[in-house]
Amino acid sequence: MANLLRDRRTAAEWAAVEQVIEIAEELSGFERLRSIVEADLAALEADGMPAGWRDAVIAGELEFGFADAQQRVPTVRCKVAVTVDAVCQRCLEVFRLPLETEAKLLLLGLEETAEGYDDHEVWELDKSTLRPQDIVEELLIMALPFSAMHVDLESCKVLSAAAGDHEDRTKPFAALRAQMIQDQ
Ligand SMILES: [Zn+2]
Repeated sequence: MANLLRDRRTAAEWAAVEQVIEIAEELSGFERLRSIVEADLAALEADGMPAGWRDAVIAGELEFGFADAQQRVPTVRCKVAVTVDAVCQRCLEVFRLPLETEAKLLLLGLEETAEGYDDHEVWELDKSTLRPQDIVEELLIMALPFSAMHVDLESCKVLSAAAGDHEDRTKPFAALRAQMIQDQ
């Protein structure tokens, strides 16, 4: 499986065999996504880094094929998900951020167009060949929120601190951090 994800073939070659690729890969093998997650976690104290953040499993499926009966327009359907560690921009604590993405892509070369496939998005290929992993990685990077925050609001230190004055007095630091975030 790992080999197929990293194989380079033309879009037409992937499509001609209706290649299906099951994905179950650790984040550590996705260099760009891994470095984005790492840069985000760098905001934490060294001992606050969650153990095993690189082991998050990217799971899903890719399915290549053609959009048209004449087999001129290669496509790929993708469905991938991963739960990464991230720093909440509200309270600056680490939390588990689920990412999920699903897409139907038309695999077109630069300047190529295809009419009549409104249910697909166009994926421009900058090379004559493609590596399935690059598509998966790019989709997950696009799925990253602009500003990551606790999904479960009750876990967010800032929000639970704001819920009562008592918390604010016992946690001056949390209140200060909350203020700093607001001022940004
Ligand atoms: Zn939070």
